[in-house]
Amino acid sequence: MAVTPRLGLIVAAIAAGVGLSLVAPAAQAAPEAVVREDGQQAEAVAEAAALAAQLAERQQTLSSLNRAADARDRALIGYRAVLARYGYHGDPEAVSAVLPLASYDLSAGFGLTGPLWEAEHGGQDFGASAGEPLVAVADALVTEVADAGPYGLRTILTLPDGTELWYCHQTDATVVAGQQVGIADVIGSVGATGNTTGPHLHLEVRPDAGSPVDPMDWLRDQGLDP
Ligand SMILES: [Zn+2]
Repeated sequence: MAVTPRLGLIVAAIAAGVGLSLVAPAAQAAPEAVVREDGQQAEAVAEAAALAAQLAERQQTLSSLNRAADARDRALIGYRAVLARYGYHGDPEAVSAVLPLASYDLSAGFGLTGPLWEAEHGGQDFGASAGEPLVAVADALVTEVADAGPYGLRTILTLPDGTELWYCHQTDATVVAGQQVGIADVIGSVGATGNTTGPHLHLEVRPDAGSPVDPMDWLRDQGLDP
């Protein structure tokens, strides 16, 4: 214990000798050190132990926060992969729409006329294997799931802005009317029900539940590349 005050004095003496501005604080350090008794040493040890405990606690909190962040990142990476499968490659937090199916060949386009259709073709056909999953292109309310004659088994999703999306010729549906669906949620599968020559998705986009517009234009307007 005697070393510290002596050292302080030596430092003070050296500092004084060299004429540094350090003189004052160094000179003050010596008497403080002298006052340091065993009781204060014990207090300092207890203080250090408390700090160590606090530090350990903080590290625990930090590692549990890290675990939560890691879980969130993993979920995010999983979601990102799902969105990418349906044609969206941007920030998952900013997604507003995806393509209705992952694997397809574009067939009959919008506005065609021919023996297959009573009037102009009101949608876009996506040729795909029967059973290929169909997903919600956006957050929507399921407003109808029913057999619709030439359209076959049809699911209608209504977007918050009133736009209707018709998924036609489905093999089956995995949602029911009144249900809320999220982007890329599976709603059913591709089929060949109704008036069709083979399995495909006939997708219609009807703003304000009115006349159909070209789904390809609509999908491109959502930033997608169908
Ligand atoms: Zn069609």
